[in-house]
Amino acid sequence: IKGLKKFFPVKNPIGITEAFVKAVNDVSFHLVEGETYGLVGESGCGKSTMGRTVLRLIEASEGEVLYKGTDIFQLNSKELRKLRQDLQMVFQDPFSSLNPRKRIGDIIEEPMIIHKLGTKKERIDRVMDILQKVGLQPEQYYRYPHEFSGGQRQRIGLARALVVNPKLIICDEPVSALDVSIQSQIINLLQELQDEYKLTYLFIAHDLSVVRHISDRIGVMYLGKMVEEAPTDKLFSNPLHPYTQALLSAVPHPNPEMKQERVKLRGEIPSPMNPPSGCVFHTRCPFVIDACRKVVPKTKEISEGHFVACHLHD
Ligand code: SF4
Ligand code: MG
Repeated sequence: IKGLKKFFPVKNPIGITEAFVKAVNDVSFHLVEGETYGLVGESGCGKSTMGRTVLRLIEASEGEVLYKGTDIFQLNSKELRKLRQDLQMVFQDPFSSLNPRKRIGDIIEEPMIIHKLGTKKERIDRVMDILQKVGLQPEQYYRYPHEFSGGQRQRIGLARALVVNPKLIICDEPVSALDVSIQSQIINLLQELQDEYKLTYLFIAHDLSVVRHISDRIGVMYLGKMVEEAPTDKLFSNPLHPYTQALLSAVPHPNPEMKQERVKLRGEIPSPMNPPSGCVFHTRCPFVIDACRKVVPKTKEISEGHFVACHLHD
């Protein structure tokens, strides 16, 4: 993912563009086959837009997404449809993404029909098999979405993504709407499925504690920018960006004896329509210096794989 930008035009009542919401503003990173990459930030930071833009569910304003060397943004609709078999997405609210009038089996089968996979009998067998892989019963094939709990519906969402044998699944806050006890079940399931199917995940969340156990690497986004990226251990043991430090201060430490330095965030996240000059975090940063208001900090690699964009690390 190189230099990705997504600006949404904001139009006035007579349809003239007055401004842009800079949802994703020049973000670059890469995924390694078989890993889980956690993408974290407050709501409104652009992480969901990022996920959707990568899969071209919405069109990017600028940038490149290379998948095994192919630029996804250059594909025509037929080529894109073919590629979508490899690249699936699971959403936060599985209920709104499941058609209430369709049986679960038909919902899970649908992507195979779209991708013209198998005969009817093969598809039904595959659905029965996938239902078990995600911890449901084959008999539940004939049931309707409203008969399932939130956690079960997320299992159905996963089954629907898995059924076409994807390589990458973009998980957009897949557990945010679930109770904590159910969250860990779904995260464990995601890990089992990753091992079994050699999946790569881009796991989007607003909560660092959720991505900690599942991610190999984590990227932290703030107001459309990637402010820090590191292997998970490094990010937790040595967070470099004041925003990451603030997010971590909000996570209870597993060992209460260990006193953490608290970095408190001031105020609210500013509007992405009018992001602050210089460092986008400067209006909330406890360490702000003069340069922060004027100069956009460059991304620097501080140690292997550990990147930060902050003037304190120039
Ligand atoms: Fe804070 Fe300045 Fe670093 Fe931005 S560049 S995070 S304002 S110290
Ligand atoms: Mg979101």
